[in-house]
Amino acid sequence: MSDDRRSSLRGSVWPESSSRPIGSPIQPSVVYASESPDALDAQYEGRAQGYTYAREGHPNADVLAEQIDRLEGAEGGLITSSGMSAVTAVMLGLLKAGDHVLGGDQLYGRSLRMMREELPRFGVATSLADPTDAARFEAALRPETKLILIEAVSNPTLRVADVEGISRLARDRGITLVVDNTFTTPRAFRPFEHGADVVIHSVTKLLAGHSDVTLGYVAAKDPDQRQAIYTTAVTTGLTPSPFDCWLAERGLFTFDMRYDRTEANARQLADHLAGLEGVKRVLYPTRPDHPDHNRATALLQGRGANMVSFEIGGGREAANRLVKAMPEIAFAPTLGDIGTTISHPASSSHRALTPEQRADLGMSEGFFRVSVGVEPVEDLTGSFTRGVQAALS
Ligand SMILES: *Cc1c(COP(=O)(O)O)cnc(C)c1O
Repeated sequence: MSDDRRSSLRGSVWPESSSRPIGSPIQPSVVYASESPDALDAQYEGRAQGYTYAREGHPNADVLAEQIDRLEGAEGGLITSSGMSAVTAVMLGLLKAGDHVLGGDQLYGRSLRMMREELPRFGVATSLADPTDAARFEAALRPETKLILIEAVSNPTLRVADVEGISRLARDRGITLVVDNTFTTPRAFRPFEHGADVVIHSVTKLLAGHSDVTLGYVAAKDPDQRQAIYTTAVTTGLTPSPFDCWLAERGLFTFDMRYDRTEANARQLADHLAGLEGVKRVLYPTRPDHPDHNRATALLQGRGANMVSFEIGGGREAANRLVKAMPEIAFAPTLGDIGTTISHPASSSHRALTPEQRADLGMSEGFFRVSVGVEPVEDLTGSFTRGVQAALS
């Protein structure tokens, strides 16, 4: 570094240190200066490693992607600005007008909207089928089906998809299988080991874990698909913020511990709820009374993740009383926070449906979804006992 540069406006030089920081630095720079046109050529042609413009990539995103790659057994994963931008990058990157996409009928709300409203505007046909039944999926395939999008465990009814059956269909017909692994996380389920071609995450949820960043992740097995997704993400500007990536990396350090603790809590809370007077139904994948219990046991290898759903009677009034009686549990339509949150699909994610449509999905006014956090489990069982008792009164 010459003294000339040090005295120029953009010439500050990072102080030298013979020791190294153990935390990752944040690099917010949008542009990177290269030495010469030849050096820039070398970068663009892949002969030299170097960043040029942050929309095309930056170190904080790459550091985070590499960590999630390791968890998923993936290569060359990409961080995007949100979980939905990861879904968008996959759809815009891999599809063209005339193609057909088949999705699970209980996908995340915005993914459903992408299927129903957005893709058809660009000439991509879409339809939905029940992913717990591979035969129904097969019946819904068309000659022009290019891509299947499923989640291993559905939101909020926690049904477990027939991933093995659907992945066989996709493989036999050369259809790209995309798995949104947000709910299950690589700790419970690694889609690439079950035939997925593309894995998506909302990093916003359990991976980052503190409800203070919005980020996504996408990885593709096939290098050509990986390149197509990357090019689309760069062109459409789905770039993540370096600061968000840095925060998510920090969150990820404790992901394993948080996950194991929230899962143990979820299992205990599910059993506790099932024993409370006034609780009509509890859904948790490893419970023997879960409708997909056997498949859950095989697919998730005994893991159940951190989500528990349950139903009480008494309609909206009882639901209001339950939520109000436990103010220490945030009533918020998200999941994966370090603290427990509770959501009410009838007034949030599924409010656009008619009561009859919700009833078909098993979601009455008394249906709740809990994203279990790391609190002492006695605190949780105490809160929910109080909540259910208030609902009954
Ligand atoms: C939250 C979520 C998304 C969207 O992620 P954002 O980061 O909020 O954009 C996609 N899929 C699933 C399963 C989710 O839970």
